[in-house]
Amino acid sequence: MNSEKTEGNERQILIEIIDKLCVEHMFKKGREGEKEFEMLLTTQNEDGLRYLKRKARETADRIYGKIIYIRGLIEFTNYCKNNCFYCGIRKDNNRIQRYRLSHDQILECCHKGYEFGFRTFVLQGGEDAYFTDDKICSILSDIKSNYPDCAVTLSIGEKSRESYQAFFDAGADRYLLRHETANEEHYKKLHPSEMSLANRKQCLSQLKEIGYQAGCGFMVGSPYQTMQTLYEDLIFMREFQPHMVGIGPFIPQKDTPFGEQKAGTLDRTLRLLSIIRLMNPHVLLPATTALGTIHLRGRELGVTAGANVVMPNLSPAKVRDNYKLYDNKIYTGVEAAEGITELSNKMSEIGYQIVTDRGDFR
Ligand code: SF4
Repeated sequence: MNSEKTEGNERQILIEIIDKLCVEHMFKKGREGEKEFEMLLTTQNEDGLRYLKRKARETADRIYGKIIYIRGLIEFTNYCKNNCFYCGIRKDNNRIQRYRLSHDQILECCHKGYEFGFRTFVLQGGEDAYFTDDKICSILSDIKSNYPDCAVTLSIGEKSRESYQAFFDAGADRYLLRHETANEEHYKKLHPSEMSLANRKQCLSQLKEIGYQAGCGFMVGSPYQTMQTLYEDLIFMREFQPHMVGIGPFIPQKDTPFGEQKAGTLDRTLRLLSIIRLMNPHVLLPATTALGTIHLRGRELGVTAGANVVMPNLSPAKVRDNYKLYDNKIYTGVEAAEGITELSNKMSEIGYQIVTDRGDFR
């Protein structure tokens, strides 16, 4: 009887926190807010958790309808000058086979993607000096002139303001640059000393000033992440007001300094997707490949928790295994652009429809 009463109380408190988040998109100020967040992230109250996901899903439905946007992901280079401790394509990892796609190969991926119904292409790669600004701009111009009804998202890391401007002028619409953590100390534990959170934040501000639809994000369960650092991530994102947020579970890659670390969990990622949806109702929120990697139905569960974007892989099949940000990454079946019909069926099973649409921020 007493435990039922306690459970009922907890449920009531959770509902109050969630209802307030739906209206104010923010937790209480100060320590009280952190406690509210902690409760949402750690509660075992099933009713409360169901309510959180339901409210997040309803929020996305109200703004975007029962549709899911698709983005064709083109991983065009796995060379990188950086050495982020968590990343499988870091410079010092000499156990992977490096590759670059040519200008024509990238255009070929877009051609294939367009036929499949993709109207956004995401060009993602490491920070690779081979791809000079001129090369990137020429790729962008060709994509935009061949496919004027498509959007292009770049995800190629930290660049100068001038480079960002040049890419924008050449036709890039969106830019995804995960901030990784909004906590200075945590940032230093994930990156070598030549990288800084201050520079990353400055890049994000510049992207927004230039006029990009800008996205940030982080890994759930990255080494040294705490309740406090996660809370700082949410506060940062609430202030930054991103157009997109990319979050997925941290998954270790064995040839990195974090190769032995524990992976992030499905449960925590889903809770955070829902909280982010309620704090940033209009945000474009992918159910990431990493989520699909740690659970067979990760993508669908992500959608039911508030995500509204999926990014199947459009890279040529022979290089997909080499873009090894983490181990066991999936790149066949519904994760591959070729599996679009299967993906579409899976989404319709949970009541959602994949659309042929740029899927801009509303
Ligand atoms: S996370 Fe990005 S910048 Fe860091 S090593 Fe990997 S590809 Fe390079």
